[in-house]
Order: sequence, then structure tokens, then C-alpha cells
Amino acid sequence: MPELPEVETVRRTLNQLVAGKRILRVTVSLPRIIQRPKAPDEFAAMLAGRTILSVERRGKFLRIIMDGLVLVSHLRMEGRYGVYHEDETTELHTHVVFHFDDGMELRYKDVRQFGTMHLFALGEELALPPLNKLGMEPLEDAFTLQAFKKRLAKRTTKIKPLLLNQEYVVGLGNIYVDEALFTAGIHPERTANSIKPAEWARLHVSIVATLGRAVEAGGSSIKSYVNGQGEMGMFQHELLVYGRKNEPCSRCGQFIEKFVVGGRGTHICTSCQPLPKGLQAGRLSRK
Ligand SMILES: [Zn+2]
Repeated sequence: MPELPEVETVRRTLNQLVAGKRILRVTVSLPRIIQRPKAPDEFAAMLAGRTILSVERRGKFLRIIMDGLVLVSHLRMEGRYGVYHEDETTELHTHVVFHFDDGMELRYKDVRQFGTMHLFALGEELALPPLNKLGMEPLEDAFTLQAFKKRLAKRTTKIKPLLLNQEYVVGLGNIYVDEALFTAGIHPERTANSIKPAEWARLHVSIVATLGRAVEAGGSSIKSYVNGQGEMGMFQHELLVYGRKNEPCSRCGQFIEKFVVGGRGTHICTSCQPLPKGLQAGRLSRK
């Protein structure tokens, strides 16, 4: 599933490709992708004649801004956008096509069919699902150490599921949570309220730095992710623990382990990310 760096990369490439284009008509061949309005005909009718002004992002959602409307799109597992000339063959699993007045098309392809599109009057989208409960944007200036701690530090939840919860900090998924916790030297099963001030500071820096570097590298191409121009990201080569089970830790040489935390496969170095002794006992007693 694409996380913040991948969605941000898609946003940047799409913005270059479609900003300024005018939609003539829209074809929907898989109605379930369209969540709002429910009727695909109504969705298509609302979009006809609109001009795309820019492509923005909120968390893992794309916001395609038009004159008076905004399309909120989530790629989920394998959703992809691509811009093609209308004469180019349409690939299998293309479910929504935006036909522009210059002979080009924005095509949405989704093999797994989990992606969603919601259409709103411009401005109303931030107050309604699915965007209304989203938490802090980690790459914006408002994401300070103080704001981060204030929101999370008193929680009794384990830190990994807390970071995955989009109501606190947006954009982090399984890959970048594992990377940020490793870089900060924090075990994913620590409860938030057990994390010390110096560790919060390290975690804050790790999240910002890991996501920032991943955005610069165009995201991580794990499984099928590509940007809006069909190009792969490069950050998968820089991942320190994710996908590196049984490989030596880059810091200490101990083998990276993989186990399950909150239902998610989790990669850690138990030497660099130790569980404090008291917590270790708690963890054993819960088994
Ligand atoms: Zn290590």
C-alpha cells in the first residue's frame, strides 16, 4: 500500500501532467470505486466541463482540485494513475477514465479494486469523511516535537499501532513506521506513555527525515507501486529494516527479526531496539 512518500510522488508527477487540463467527459466502468456521489452517472455529469487546477495531498489521499469541485482519491493497495493519448490501448483493470479536450486521458487502473473516489464541492471535503478525522501532516511545519508529543505521549497504546493510526499522524504505513522506529531505537511494542523525552525527540526527527528522504527518492517500489509516469521509486534500496529479515543490521550486525505487532508484520533489530526490562516481563506475561 502506498504511504506518504509514494502518494506525494504520484501527486507531484500528476500535478505536472494534468494541471490546466479540461475534462470533456468521464467514463466509469467499475461503479464501486465511486463512493460519492453513489451514482457513477451523477459523478461523471458533475465532472464534465471542469478544469483541473492542481493536485494536492492530505495524508495518503490525493486531492484533485478543480474549478468548484475536488476529487478525493485513495489508491489503497494497487491503484495507479497514468496519462495517455486517447489512441493508446486501454490496459486491463482500467476502471475510470477522464477524457480531456486535448485528446489526452487520465486513466485510473486498479487490479485489486480497493481504491476509492469521493467528489465534493471545493472546501467541503476537509469537514467530511474520509478526510475529516485525519491527524497531523508530518512534513508540514506544524508537525513540531511539541505537537507530536502532546497528541501521543500519554496514550497507553503500543507505539507502532499508534503511528499507523491516521487520526494521530497521517501518511505512515508499515514500511515507514518500521524504519522510523528502528532509526529512533524504539521497540514497536513500547507503549507511548513509556517513551522518554529524548526518545520522542529521536522519533520525531526519524519520522521527518525518513519520510523526507523517501519523498526525494520518489518513494519505495515494493510490489507494484509506480508514480504517475509509470516510473518506480528508489527508496526501497535504502530501507534499513523493512523487508530485511535475517539480514545483518546496518548498525550492529545482529540479524533483523520479523514478528507480528498489532496484526502487522514488523521488522526490528532487537539489539538496537531493546524492550526495557520491566516491559519485557509484561510482554511475556501477556502471551
Ligand atoms: Zn542493530
